[in-house]
Amino acid sequence: MLCDRHLQEMTRITLQHDLESLAEVLACEVHDCTRNWDIYQGYFDVVGGEAQYDKAKTRVCPKDGAAMYLESQNAQTGGEVWRCPHIGCAP
Ligand SMILES: [Zn+2]
Ligand SMILES: [Zn+2]
Repeated sequence: MLCDRHLQEMTRITLQHDLESLAEVLACEVHDCTRNWDIYQGYFDVVGGEAQYDKAKTRVCPKDGAAMYLESQNAQTGGEVWRCPHIGCAP
């Protein structure tokens, strides 16, 4: 899974959303990059400890509406490969 800004592999972290729920999150390791991804919202920025979502830019799966992630980019054509986080779903 890549950062949609840097096209760098993201690292799995766990972020505490609130006291009851822990959600698994991926974060970009590029210095100063605020980009994160989770299965509920897709890509978002964390600025000053607060998550900022941009719904308009979130790509959703046409089949089930899940927030998709950027899996890879073709170095030759620049074509992006977006995937649904649901196992077995191939839109
Ligand atoms: Zn990044
Ligand atoms: Zn899907």
